[in-house]
Amino acid sequence: MRVVIAGAGPAGMVAAKLLADRGHEVLVFEKRHVPGGKVSAWKDADGDWVESGLHVFFGAYRNLLNFLHTNGLHDTFDWRPPQMIFASPEHGLAPINFVRGLPAPFNGLAGVATSKLLPWPDKLRMAIGLLRPIFGNQAYIDQQDNQTYAAWHLRHGMGERSLRDVMDTMALSLNFARCDNVSAKLPLTAMLHFAKETDASKMALVKGSPHTRIWLPLSAKLKALGGTVEMNRKIVDILYNPVVNMIDGFVLEDGTIVRGDVYISAMPVHSLRKVLPDALREMPYFGNLRHLKGRPVITVQFFFDRQVTGVNHLLFSSNTDISVYADMANVAPDYSTGGPSIVQFVVAPADTLINQDDETIVEHVMNDFIRLHPIAAEARLRKYTIVRIPNSVYQAVPGVDAYRPDQASPVPNLFLAGDYTQQEFLASIEGAVRSARRCVERVDAYVRLRQSNGHAAQQAASPVLI
Ligand SMILES: Cc1cc2nc3c(=O)[nH]c(=O)nc-3n(C[C@H](O)[C@H](O)[C@H](O)COP(=O)(O)OP(=O)(O)OC[C@H]3O[C@@H](n4cnc5c(N)ncnc54)[C@H](O)[C@@H]3O)c2cc1C
Repeated sequence: MRVVIAGAGPAGMVAAKLLADRGHEVLVFEKRHVPGGKVSAWKDADGDWVESGLHVFFGAYRNLLNFLHTNGLHDTFDWRPPQMIFASPEHGLAPINFVRGLPAPFNGLAGVATSKLLPWPDKLRMAIGLLRPIFGNQAYIDQQDNQTYAAWHLRHGMGERSLRDVMDTMALSLNFARCDNVSAKLPLTAMLHFAKETDASKMALVKGSPHTRIWLPLSAKLKALGGTVEMNRKIVDILYNPVVNMIDGFVLEDGTIVRGDVYISAMPVHSLRKVLPDALREMPYFGNLRHLKGRPVITVQFFFDRQVTGVNHLLFSSNTDISVYADMANVAPDYSTGGPSIVQFVVAPADTLINQDDETIVEHVMNDFIRLHPIAAEARLRKYTIVRIPNSVYQAVPGVDAYRPDQASPVPNLFLAGDYTQQEFLASIEGAVRSARRCVERVDAYVRLRQSNGHAAQQAASPVLI
């Protein structure tokens, strides 16, 4: 089978490799100059790496870890002690150390109990308030999708302090918004994963750029299997034949029509919506995608003339606009080993800041950073980079989960992959990998039906979707 894939982000690349492993001819078309999507990296004019976004990987990311391992990429990560370091102007650095030797969820509960992050009454209120989701199940958590996490938290008696100092941080790192702007399902699902598996909270960062560590070797493996990944090749249209309810081709920007037996959109949802023909938009499956909107986020990188953090781990902060950050000179040995700081920030919420000029963004981030690390005021900022992503991951607001589509569409030879499609890991790289696996399972089913029944089966493979 010839499979045409739009988008070389994690979902597209993983789907491509899994399908090439099954013997299919795979063609990937990517609109940007580098693969990797929101996990991409490229060099600037000085030869320094610029990343789309700071990425942390967890022990819970089983599908991603297995995939990398199977593809000989097990040396991608530097694993860190299971620890979350919270930085705040008021309290300095306050770690939560998941206690080794204790099974989940007690490793995390003991970590919160021994941290300086919250006073005892707040710790107790959190422990009691979170009992149900921690010892509960996904079905209960799914039912909470009708309210914000902030409403859920306050309703369960946990108070403002833990909401702002702990849970906002979590919501910001998961979905680039504070708890009053995310569904309760989001933080509760993440907590359930940590609570169920002892090593789920293990954290890793890529040893260097994801470009050299992941996407280049993966592209080479795909090529060795006869696949292709073409850069600067944007899909601008989808050719749909309503008579037989099948896709006839993807149209590229230069007018080329690429044809295959199976088509996969691994584009983000806002990009897919731009290229959907009207006849598909009218189907509820595709029409409902309008409910999934992208969240703005900014990645800023500061290159200092000296070491300013002294921290060799990821840092979280909630009472500033730099929700997650890390000193790449300390955490990514390919970049440097303890040299002058290269601090990469995830700037969120970014709704207002994203439309500001570079100078305003730099000033804003620097002010926040100096509040957290006053020593930075003495350092010279050698240079900075800024990456604005107006539509990053889908906004996980209350009620939206119901509109996340299955990977099989009502058009038998068109499939979707991407973190916004249905899978258990929400908007994350593990979610993107899971979506790719589910997509490939559905392609497998379609191929089997097509082989056994011919064209009649193609019609039968179309799921009945409302
Ligand atoms: C700043 C930031 C930090 C993050 N941190 C983490 C983290 O720590 N841990 C974590 O698990 N997740 C994190 N994420 C989320 C993670 O990056 C995404 O969940 C993941 O990249 C989604 O993969 P995807 O393949 O679904 O989509 P994408 O990565 O968006 O890939 C889609 C690809 O499609 C391409 N494309 C779009 N339109 C077209 C077109 N018309 N034609 C051809 N190609 C097209 C895009 O250029 C892109 O390459 C972060 C995201 C951001 C933005």
